[in-house]
Amino acid sequence: MTKKILVVGAHSADFVWRAGGTIATITTQGGTATVVALSYGERGESGELWKELNQTVENVKHIRHDEASAAARILGADFRALDLGDYPLNITDPDLEHIVQIIREIQPDIILTHTPVDPFNPDHPVTCQAVQKARLLSSGAGVASAFNRINPPDLYFFEPHQPELCDFHPNTFVDITPVMDQKKKAMDCMKAQSYLQTYYTELASRRGNHAQRISGMQEVKFAEAMQRTLPWVVKSL
Ligand SMILES: [Zn+2]
Repeated sequence: MTKKILVVGAHSADFVWRAGGTIATITTQGGTATVVALSYGERGESGELWKELNQTVENVKHIRHDEASAAARILGADFRALDLGDYPLNITDPDLEHIVQIIREIQPDIILTHTPVDPFNPDHPVTCQAVQKARLLSSGAGVASAFNRINPPDLYFFEPHQPELCDFHPNTFVDITPVMDQKKKAMDCMKAQSYLQTYYTELASRRGNHAQRISGMQEVKFAEAMQRTLPWVVKSL
């Protein structure tokens, strides 16, 4: 069954490290993926670019837009940037309404975003809170409402950089082995944070090992860990 996934990150590269394989898995199966970056991470997550003399915020945003667009293309995803600013990321009521409109327009089966807790980043929890609220505003209470509403999308948190300290409890592992080369190519687009590529390749391997032991599926070599937030509703166990 083909799926529609919406990935919302605080910064323009977040989707690549944490959900690149999950996105590519869905798009190679014929599904669709949309990535929304609330900011470019131009101030707080563009380390390599700020080593250059006379660097400007506008130039960094421009480069980050091109990098994220190229990475999204490799993963088969549509990339949208809202350019709300970072460090700090502030979400106004009109910004929240914009996110609600995007969710209503896309009608995703699945939404992925940050964990509610991240003691090392001021923007990731803000994004999570906005996405959770926007999801509820777009889907209502599961009954007819005074506004256009969509079926409630599943909500997952993708793995943060320091999972234990972000209260992250992985309960879903996505086998990304068949698309790991795509993820590596997408990560390679992110020149502003090239220091993360080795780290996230090793993490995918470690999570692959965990997934293999949990399931007995020997073919799983690389995985991404997710935290599902809602109960499953099934026709049968
Ligand atoms: Zn980020």
